[in-house]
Amino acid sequence: MWGLLFGSGVGSGFAARLLRKSLESRAQGPLAPLQRHPVVALTFDDLPASGGLSPDETRVGILTRLAQELKANHLKGTYGFVTGNDLPGDPDSQQALRVWVRVGMNIGNHTFSHPSLTTSTPAAFEHEIALNEPLLSRYAGKRDWHWFRYPYLEEGETPQKRSAVRDWLHAHGYRVAEVTLTFEDDDWSDPYDRCRAKHNEAEIEWLKQSYLENATEFIRLGREEEQIAFGHEIPSVLVLHATAMTTLMLPSLLDQLREQGFRFTSLARAERNPAYALDPGVGIADGGPLTNEFLNARHLRYPPFQPEPVQRLNSVCQ
Ligand SMILES: [Zn+2]
Repeated sequence: MWGLLFGSGVGSGFAARLLRKSLESRAQGPLAPLQRHPVVALTFDDLPASGGLSPDETRVGILTRLAQELKANHLKGTYGFVTGNDLPGDPDSQQALRVWVRVGMNIGNHTFSHPSLTTSTPAAFEHEIALNEPLLSRYAGKRDWHWFRYPYLEEGETPQKRSAVRDWLHAHGYRVAEVTLTFEDDDWSDPYDRCRAKHNEAEIEWLKQSYLENATEFIRLGREEEQIAFGHEIPSVLVLHATAMTTLMLPSLLDQLREQGFRFTSLARAERNPAYALDPGVGIADGGPLTNEFLNARHLRYPPFQPEPVQRLNSVCQ
């Protein structure tokens, strides 16, 4: 089992020892209290055109507000992961991405057209990454765009496929932008657009409230999963999406995170933690955060959680 966990070429001996030690000391019983001052790096997926677009919105408007809010909160250098196929022939998206970078944010590679690795061959997937590079290079200028976020967080359904794509990424100078925290913020995007179209203020209030409640619940869950996977919380990486709803909610979300004791860091600094150099050594068909890969690989129990209000999200303002 350990051989499987620490597959070939994975991480340092130090990292492996650290995980072993922490797993030995970890009983799958009560969890330790959460840290008073956890650390998180925010990241945004699906730039420049995440989610739908209300008739009174533009991509420039959304990404300008998002980037300005991040800058106002001293979060310059935040990474947004770009799929280039939204750019050609769409001046609004092109300008939005220019603004994002000009305000001081970074961009990384999210493939050209967001394919699923589970249903792609490694060669086709690598071609998709390479296809995106000229656009990234043009928009990023001198900034470091060699960070890669897997679409759907799918990293390969067999160890061989996983290693093949990772080897290609490393050979091409990429680091993998892993995720440890997600609350599926993009699931609020379509409902929000529908409720706006109907001017349904009462339901928009419910969307705002449930967005923050869901964030609290799933961020707690993610931190507990880190404890189970690694024996302790690590500097987290939160995935968000550059939607109108998340742009609207970002000030409240940042307030809430601060109230929970969070401090903010960069993606590069978060991933200096040795846990990010570990490899679960198994293939997983369904995408998910890094922590889930370790829990699934080792058949560990997930902590209980209050599920997302999927039914109401699907029916609200229909
Ligand atoms: Zn994506």
